[in-house]
Amino acid sequence: MPFLSRTLDRVKPSPTVAVTQLAGELKAAGQDVIGLGAGEPDFDTPDNIKAAAIAAIEAGKTKYTALDGIPELKAAICDKFRRENGLDYAPSQVIVSTGGKQVLFNALLATLNPGDEVIIPAPYWVSYPDMVQIGGGTPVIVPGTAETGYKITPEALEAAITPATKWFIFNSPSNPTGAGYSRDELRALTDVLMRHEHVWVMTDDMYEHLVYDGFTFATPAEVAPGLYDRTLTVNGVSKAYAMTGWRIGYAAGPAEVIGAMRKVQSQSTTNPCSISQWAAVEALTGPQDFLATRAEAFRARRDLVVAGLNACPGIDCATPEGAFYVYPSIAGCIGRVSAGGARIETDEDFCTALLKEEGVAVVFGAAFGLSPNFRVSYAVSDAVLEEACARIRRFCEGLH
Ligand code: PLP
Repeated sequence: MPFLSRTLDRVKPSPTVAVTQLAGELKAAGQDVIGLGAGEPDFDTPDNIKAAAIAAIEAGKTKYTALDGIPELKAAICDKFRRENGLDYAPSQVIVSTGGKQVLFNALLATLNPGDEVIIPAPYWVSYPDMVQIGGGTPVIVPGTAETGYKITPEALEAAITPATKWFIFNSPSNPTGAGYSRDELRALTDVLMRHEHVWVMTDDMYEHLVYDGFTFATPAEVAPGLYDRTLTVNGVSKAYAMTGWRIGYAAGPAEVIGAMRKVQSQSTTNPCSISQWAAVEALTGPQDFLATRAEAFRARRDLVVAGLNACPGIDCATPEGAFYVYPSIAGCIGRVSAGGARIETDEDFCTALLKEEGVAVVFGAAFGLSPNFRVSYAVSDAVLEEACARIRRFCEGLH
């Protein structure tokens, strides 16, 4: 009998973490590596948020808290949903967890039974299908296309729904493409969901504040209030407030599901870090003006990287609405051979050769369920981005 759980046979380790680790190892070994793999802002956590955490430590707020979050943070989250999304939630409908990742994990573990299907648009954030598998459900992948900016159509969503569908996971702006659904595009999807009353919506709004060129963020329960009773709205402070290491995510939704998530959390981590919770209170209630300043810096970097990649022969890069990722197609590079002699048959071949020959770490598209592409995280300085684009261009020009 195997010692390790059979559940793990169905699970892959996170490839984005693996790329970041490999780039780190090459760097530590003295190689000149540019890492464009990590999904986190390079900006620092704002000082007022750090100060709130220090004050919490000094005030002795260092013990267990309420399992699902301190009342002050749950109140701040309810205010945030009302203020920014026009959504009314009571504190009993809110849970705070150790990052958005734990929120999603809790929700899937708390609701899935064998045979339940979960619709996931591709390309997807790497963890969704694996989390569904751990929960015993079946991921149903619905691919987007380059022509629709990697967004799925209402027809494709409709065709994927079966009597076994439990959840539709929605992520806009998206990791890995940066694509954001406009209000109208989202309404076309929610119109489909309104016709299928057994399907619930898990919306991952992590990149809400990272949108550009006047794009207006929209979330399903806001666009279609008729979905409120079967929507779990997930968000967190990691990306918007540059707080990836603090590990605070949260969700709001029907009290029964939140209660089930609380039960899962009660037998795993108990409450999220007390100090981080006080920092998150400051993040959500303190000054918000820096969000726009940082989004503008990301927009400028997005423009820089899109132009730099489109100057590379064989690469085609769309201009996405948000997040800090681009997802260029490398269809024009497939079947060729690099200057270093590597045959490029897949996007993984491309990324491995690019790392070895030019020291640029990006994540191959197959990891996100749609090929042949790669993901660039452009949350790095302009100078680093310019150098990375120059190296990618040299690599592409060397293909024959
Ligand atoms: N959802 C998406 C789409 C993400 O990109 C990430 C982080 O990469 C998460 C959730 C997890 O966020 P957290 O770091 O708060 O766990």
